[in-house]
Amino acid sequence: MALRFYNTLSQQVEDFSPARDNTVRMYTCGPTVYDFAHIGNFRTFTFIDILRKCLRANGFRLDHVMNVTDVDDKIIRNAVAQHKSLEDYTAIYKNAFLEDCGLLRLESPERLVPATAHIDDMVEAIERLGAGNHTYSSDGSVYFRISTFPGYGKLSHNDFSGNLAGARVDVDEYEKADARDFALWKAPKEGEPAWQTPLGPGRPGWHIECSVMAIKYLGETLDIHAGGIDLVFPHHENEIAQSESLTGKPFSRFWLHAEFLMVEGQKMSKSLGNYYTLRDLVGRGYAPEAIRYLLASVPYRKSLNFTLDGLKSAAIAIERLRNFKLRLETDRYQPGHNEQLAARTAAASQAFGDSLNDDLNTAEALAAVFEYVRDANSAMDSGEFRAGNVAAAAEFLGRFDSIFQVLEPGVQAGQISDAQVESLIAERNAAKKARNFARADQLREELLQQGIILEDTKSGVRWKRK
Ligand code: AMP
Ligand code: ZN
Repeated sequence: MALRFYNTLSQQVEDFSPARDNTVRMYTCGPTVYDFAHIGNFRTFTFIDILRKCLRANGFRLDHVMNVTDVDDKIIRNAVAQHKSLEDYTAIYKNAFLEDCGLLRLESPERLVPATAHIDDMVEAIERLGAGNHTYSSDGSVYFRISTFPGYGKLSHNDFSGNLAGARVDVDEYEKADARDFALWKAPKEGEPAWQTPLGPGRPGWHIECSVMAIKYLGETLDIHAGGIDLVFPHHENEIAQSESLTGKPFSRFWLHAEFLMVEGQKMSKSLGNYYTLRDLVGRGYAPEAIRYLLASVPYRKSLNFTLDGLKSAAIAIERLRNFKLRLETDRYQPGHNEQLAARTAAASQAFGDSLNDDLNTAEALAAVFEYVRDANSAMDSGEFRAGNVAAAAEFLGRFDSIFQVLEPGVQAGQISDAQVESLIAERNAAKKARNFARADQLREELLQQGIILEDTKSGVRWKRK
């Protein structure tokens, strides 16, 4: 089945292929690095990861840009309160985000771009919008005048025709949004850090960063723009207004939005306090793979109710698949080839791919896998599974794992990761080189306490877990 997605813009399921060179130009809205991301945020980022993998499985190349919002009201408020520079404050949460992405096995986009590295581009875009009469200034801030963009509302399918005039609301804190006109550039309040620019001192509003960075790296029309469902309005609607006012071209062909991760009927969110971070859950002994599996298992357009029981079931599901893989690799099978089973394997693999291509129906894709595993296990029990069936079964499992990526066991909760071991070894090597043997011994001891044994060989240091 050809790949197809539900497009928020057209409200239809449409066949998808990129407009040019077999390369998908995709922009997804990234994290605001003012705190640790919660697993609600990671539901959306896991959806993006599955999307990337499915696009590649269809033979497309990717050029994917994701922003990191490293300046906004909350960041400034918190950094000022903690007497930190914006850079120092956001570095903590940006690094934490990247670490969490690593644990959840989320691929890095081709380009991960911080807003603060693009202030000049944003200022220039705001000036161009001004030259086109799309803006007005007030108290040192610059606002986008929605009444100059007749298509406003086409993504969220809101009808704004009755109430466009005049209102001016600051919508950076978008949950409070009563959005019509919105800030492109914000004058600093007393004591706030600011960029000195031709627009005056200040900082960009949230929406402009995405338009500017998307167009800069991917061109005037994207193939896909994606994010969480709460971004449809006003964020993405505002991105369209800015971008299309700048270029006169459609901003994105496809718009994909993930539904929320819920807790007891409410959106998981910082403000409601009903959230878990990845760290919370890993600290309680849940494996990141189980969290990944749970977040990916419900199709992205359905809301997902988070429970710890759901997480336990996810861990059990992964265990079943790992056991099947082990059995496949280690059991001895009678020679020959069971044609019927071969057909069953091919059909399951086909159903798996078709389900994913059908707007990423992960639940159906998983059902195809589990029904197959059940049948294959009983064929193994009865001796009908033959040596000649192993390769296709393994290939199917490989296909499954190229998308879901949960079969390889990860780091145990509380266990030091391979990357951390390597970096401590590198530090120890540097200490030895500097003839600081006391420090080198101390690092060896530290690693030993974490269960890591070092072996100095001619070709360098080898290590293993106890
Ligand atoms: P933020 O860091 O607040 O800008 O959010 C990052 C991403 O997480 C955005 O795409 C949001 O739409 C998404 N998001 C926030 N809360 C949830 C939730 N409970 N479920 C799914 N996605 C969410
Ligand atoms: Zn955005």
